[in-house]
Amino acid sequence: MANSNSPPVLLGTELPSVDVWSERVTVALGQNPSAFTGPGTNTYLVGTGPQRLLIDPGQGEEAYLPVLEEAIERTGCQGIQEIVLTHGHPDHIGGCEQVMERFGRLQVSKFPWPDVDASQSIELRQLGDRDRIETEGATLQGIHTPGHAPDHLCFLLEEEGALFSGDNVLGIGTTVIPAQSGDLADYMASLERLLQEAPTRIYPAHGPCIQDGTAKIREYIGHRLARETQILEAMAAGAGTVPDIVQIVYAAYPESLHAAAGQSVTSHLRKLEREQRVRRVTDEEPLIAQWECLPA
Ligand SMILES: [Zn+2]
Repeated sequence: MANSNSPPVLLGTELPSVDVWSERVTVALGQNPSAFTGPGTNTYLVGTGPQRLLIDPGQGEEAYLPVLEEAIERTGCQGIQEIVLTHGHPDHIGGCEQVMERFGRLQVSKFPWPDVDASQSIELRQLGDRDRIETEGATLQGIHTPGHAPDHLCFLLEEEGALFSGDNVLGIGTTVIPAQSGDLADYMASLERLLQEAPTRIYPAHGPCIQDGTAKIREYIGHRLARETQILEAMAAGAGTVPDIVQIVYAAYPESLHAAAGQSVTSHLRKLEREQRVRRVTDEEPLIAQWECLPA
């Protein structure tokens, strides 16, 4: 069992296992730190009443339950009203069963992703774009924001004008667009949609609270556009495969992040391919194919 007093240290970020971020938002760390999850998944107790919403119960780590119990004690609430998921990746949905073993059967709601939902052992209630979930002191409104995952929902916290951003905007690092199930063009459209909501704070699924949410979303959009330019420049300089491009564009990043970087580069190439700005020279999967720029 992990000691909840020793914060995981990863990529320079330290977060306490339990932290109160506003009168209606308390975070409990999922106890699953890694290169992909940073300090681990932020799981959120939301509301002000005796029963709170739980957003994303983490991955199912044994060390998480005592942390969740500590969070419940810190907020002074008694239990969990229901579970709400930002998306079906294992570090978000994986803890549902464990939490229900401890707290009894709970309603679990998410946006549908048939391929992934069918493999879950828990019953899932469908949540759509703009659907609301209410608890004492808090109202969440789902915003369908595909790109990182096809089923991704962000949640506006209406009482604060704040946003639970899931994996779309992170407090540490940048969002990975998985090469297989992700879609960078969708992701960029989702960021534009979130920008229109002009959120105050952002409560991300990984990393610390973001105080100026709108500025952070602008930064993310700018970052992706700059990355796209860098990839095209690397290709113009002769890089023709994903690993070649990663070596150039991510030269300043540790090797441990290069696998994730390769996925991001692949997502950029697939977007650019659809826009007919690059093409595959060899008839292979994007990750191993030879690529070239097309004349504008
Ligand atoms: Zn995810």
